[in-house]
Formats: sequence, structure tokens, C-alpha cells
Amino acid sequence: MARPRTDIELLAGVLERLSCVLGPADKPIPLHAPEFGDLEKELVTDCINTGWVSSVGSYVDQFERDVAAACDSTYGVAVVNGTAALELALKVVGVRQGDEILIPTLTFVATANAVHRLGAIPHFVDSAEDTLGLDPVALSSYLRDIGKPGPDGLYNRKSGRRISCVVPMHVFGHPVDLDGLANVADEFGLMVVEDSAEALGSRYKGRACGSFGRLGVVSFNGNKIVTTGGGGVILSDDEALARRAKHLSTTAKIPHPWAFEHDEPGYNYRLPNLNAALGVAQMGQLDQRIEKKRVLAQRYADAFAEFAGARMFSEPTAAESNYWLNALVLAPGTTYAARNVLLEGLNVAGYMARPVWTLMHKLPFHSASPRASLKVAENLEQRIVNLPSSANLADLPY
Ligand SMILES: *Cc1c(COP(=O)(O)O)cnc(C)c1O
Repeated sequence: MARPRTDIELLAGVLERLSCVLGPADKPIPLHAPEFGDLEKELVTDCINTGWVSSVGSYVDQFERDVAAACDSTYGVAVVNGTAALELALKVVGVRQGDEILIPTLTFVATANAVHRLGAIPHFVDSAEDTLGLDPVALSSYLRDIGKPGPDGLYNRKSGRRISCVVPMHVFGHPVDLDGLANVADEFGLMVVEDSAEALGSRYKGRACGSFGRLGVVSFNGNKIVTTGGGGVILSDDEALARRAKHLSTTAKIPHPWAFEHDEPGYNYRLPNLNAALGVAQMGQLDQRIEKKRVLAQRYADAFAEFAGARMFSEPTAAESNYWLNALVLAPGTTYAARNVLLEGLNVAGYMARPVWTLMHKLPFHSASPRASLKVAENLEQRIVNLPSSANLADLPY
């Protein structure tokens, strides 16, 4: 099919295909809606009936075990949200105030915020067209250019600051090139903390995302594939790191039947039992939800297969994605104006759609932050449109 010639033609082409996959949007079809069953009500009610609603209770332990098991990890530490999980993860691996932390510019702001909370500096790097995530090849040549060895790791020869850590993010659930990244991390002595917030249940070469870094993080915010209302889990195989994360998350209190002793300034980041109860019920649905999301993704892919104006982003090679959010990638050269006509038209028609996040280096409070060349991310930014992605859309009869 010929490339759409006008903004309106592009919109019409996309609308026609959405109606094939999703049917008419008599009521607005949300981008991603949470789904709850009877077990959720039963377990949350159990918390209320027993009075165990807050920071202790058996659902927290079970939720941690369930999430760790689903993510091929030995330990899970449940906290109030994914951002807090990232902050604690970066802290316990030893990120110090003034360190530079390599993060993709194409990410949700939480990745950068966690870095800021520690007094560290986000250093923005570019993305790969085939994964949408951090590009290890570009990163390697960049670090060869700006890096120099220092007494305690890699240093940025321009700023003089230590570069201690790299935080890959699996965009919309699609795993980054984790082998490539591991090679770069080894070569330059960088720690890896995985922002796997969107990638619960996604796999790279058969192994779960979140289990590749020293620590990994998943989110259970209301818009993620399964939810605790709000929540996050830190994943690790390292017992000492997991223990320290848990300790810090619970005011650094030394366990004692009645005394209140604390051995360092801590946080109150523990996930309440009430939320964990919701999480236990939701985790039981994870596999089925991923199956449905993969069916939906395939329907989108089929519907757009012959369309010259855009293609559906599909999982990278070696990866099995949870397809958290479906992404339409507009043809190269599509203008911002055309994208905005499309977004406006889809939302008016009742198909909730949205652009990818504004790139981190374009946010005003990052104007002075260090950065690599970000050409690929800048190009992708104006071409990505997320489409309705709730798992239950796979049950529609279209
Ligand atoms: C959702 C998300 C987080 C964590 O968000 P919370 O709302 O704090 O749980 C972190 N990074 C990315 C990329 C996310 O999408």
C-alpha cells in the first residue's frame, strides 16, 4: 500500500486498522486498565478482617517470594513504588552523591528521579532502533571516548566525576540487548541496575528481565501489567544487598521484640500488607495476562502488516516481551505535526493513545546534564504512538 500522503490519510489508515482489532470505541478504550477478580477482594478483605493492613503481615512475604520466583531471582524486597525501589537499589549497590549514572534519555522520568534523590547525576545515552532501549554499541564507543580509569572505577574525563552505574530500561516491556550491555559493563567496570519496571514477565534468552543486573526493579503501579495499587519490588541474587535494601526500607530498625534501635538514617518505604494482598492475587494472573497481551500484539501486527504509514514495534530477537504497551512506529520522516493530528484524532475517536515520554534531556531541569549523541532517541521520540493495550482486549470478538 502506498504511503499516506496527508496527515488525515495517516489518521484514517490507523483508525481503520484499530477498528478491525478493537471494534468500535462506543465507550473510550483506555490505554491500559487494571483488572481485578474475586481473589483480590477476598485477600484484601482478609487483611481488613485480621487487622494486618500495614507494614507487617504475611502477604508481604508471600508477594516477595512470588515476584522473585517469577523473575528468576532469589530475593525480592517489596517497597511502596517502583521509583523508591530504584532509589534503594542504586543506594545499596554503592552509588554516591556526585556520581554520574548512565541512563537512556528515552525513559519515564522515574529512572532519572531515582538518580536525583541520591544526589547523583543522570548522564543520558542513546537508544537502539531495534530494541527501543539503551544501545550498548553506541555506549561502548562513547565511553571509550569520554572515559578514563580512576582509583575506584570509571571516570568522565570531561566532568571529572565517577561513572559508577548503568541503568538499562526495557521500554514497553521489550528487553534491551542484555548480552551486549553485560560486555560493556565488564569492559568498563560498571554496575548494572535494571529498570525492569515495565517488563515483569519479559524474557531475554529464556531468562526473566530484572534478574540480569546486580539488582533489578519491577513496578506494580496501577498502569503496569499487574498492580498492587502502587508498589515496587527490588530483585537480587545477592543476599547481603537484599537484606540491606530491606533494612533501609524499614527505618533501618534493628530487629528486637520491644526496643527501637536504628543503625543508620533509614526510609519508610515498605509496601503495606494491604497492597501486597492485592499483589498476591494479581501475580496469579501474570502468565495468562502475558499470553493475552501477546495475542493482542499479534493482532495489531497483522492489522498493520501491509500499512506503509507505520509498523507495530515487535519484540527484539532473542527476547520474549510481555508487550506491556503496544507501540506504533510511524514511518521515518513523519512530522511532529502528523503525529499530533494522529494522537488528537485517535483520542477523539475513543481510542486512547499517547506519545512516548518527552526525552529526559529535553526536560528543563536536565538542561545542564551530561549526554552522549542522542540522535536515535530523538528520531524515535516523534514517531512512537502507544495504542490501547489492556490484556482483556484480546477477548474481543474482532
Ligand atoms: C512505572 C515505571 C517506574 C516506576 O514507577 P512507580 O510509579 O514509581 O512504580 C520506573 N521506571 C519506569 C520506566 C516505569 O515505567
